[in-house]
Amino acid sequence: MRPFENKVWLSSPTMHGDELVYVKEAYETNWMSTVGKNIDEAERIVAEKIGCKYAVGLSSGTAALHLCMKLAGITLGTKVFCSDVTFAATVNPVVYEGGVPIFIDTEMDTWNMDPTALEKAFALYPEVKHVVMANLYGVPGKLDEIRAICDRHGAILIEDAAESMGATYKGRQTGTFGDLGIISFNGNKIITGSSGGMLLTDDKERANKARKWSTQSRENAAWYQHEEVGYNYRMSNVIAGVVRGQLPYLEEHIAQKKAIYMRYKEGLKGLPIQMNPYDEQNAEPNFWLSCMLIDRDAMCKQVRGETEALYCSEHGKSCPTEILEKLAAINAEGRPIWKPMHMQPIFRMHGFVTRGGNGRGRTNAYIEGESVDAGMDLFERGLCLPSDNKMTPEQQDVIIEVIRSCFE
Ligand SMILES: *Cc1c(COP(=O)(O)O)cnc(C)c1O
Repeated sequence: MRPFENKVWLSSPTMHGDELVYVKEAYETNWMSTVGKNIDEAERIVAEKIGCKYAVGLSSGTAALHLCMKLAGITLGTKVFCSDVTFAATVNPVVYEGGVPIFIDTEMDTWNMDPTALEKAFALYPEVKHVVMANLYGVPGKLDEIRAICDRHGAILIEDAAESMGATYKGRQTGTFGDLGIISFNGNKIITGSSGGMLLTDDKERANKARKWSTQSRENAAWYQHEEVGYNYRMSNVIAGVVRGQLPYLEEHIAQKKAIYMRYKEGLKGLPIQMNPYDEQNAEPNFWLSCMLIDRDAMCKQVRGETEALYCSEHGKSCPTEILEKLAAINAEGRPIWKPMHMQPIFRMHGFVTRGGNGRGRTNAYIEGESVDAGMDLFERGLCLPSDNKMTPEQQDVIIEVIRSCFE
């Protein structure tokens, strides 16, 4: 197959022109700082769209998460239950504050934090009062159940909606189920500012605290007066101009991403795989990334070290490593499923709780009839497919053909 002339990306920025208008406005009015109309408007529109009282514009989703950890009272030694299959930015901010992440295994219905494992974790660590969960790849997790478990144990829930902006669960936007929530405008997200993020809350005091901390914690005085540690985390008015220009296109981007997901689902029919699943009754994902999971008995032999992978090609079978290699050969970008946090060298000594209890020390990711270490199972058998808005149906057909050829 001839490689694409222009690379088909996993997910790249999709600009529309309005972004430049607002950036230019910032330039021409000289609001080239972390104050200005673009920030005010972006915050107002996001709060309205998402249905929360306050959205605080910050330099990144990671910065927003960091301020969430501080607002939630995480400090040296605080144990925090965290999503396991997620991007590292979900959990790094816990560590910034000296907190200790304990990872909660994943369920196979939405690939998010498993409420059964979370309940188990509260039995093992009754002292824990903080939960950080992400909605992976734009698919809402079991938010009602997780919220109810947190309430039952008096725990604060922080919802990382960095990948799921615009997705809804029972008609409500993700990012509003936690006591605190965040979204990201990183370049690969469904709406981008090139960078940036926002903290979401209904609590005026928390919003004001976050704003103050993000601007070096200046007290109300004529000089620089400080009573608390501060950060340089405020969103730039230029970045906010890009965000402001992008926001009206959120729904269009979601529709395009959904069409891509459906086209894969149709095109890959008959193969021993499934697409990343969601609760079709209650959830409407934003379909940020389309992913696939290979059936266990259709996996060829694949071995992964810490940084390299090998596989043996087998008739009728395949594996993520083979498919990613074949996609790269036609100039298309896929990616393995986010490697579980409990498998990362940096978190090797941290707790990991599965439905069965302590999930450490397992040698196989999957035991027949028993769900153990679902995250590792997903990592071994799953991959993210090229999901760029600007991919044409013709390009996607070629990608589908390449994937089909891997199973021949
Ligand atoms: C992208 C991402 C973040 C971090 O957002 P940045 O704006 O890149 O700092 C956090 N959590 C998840 C799940 C993400 O995918």
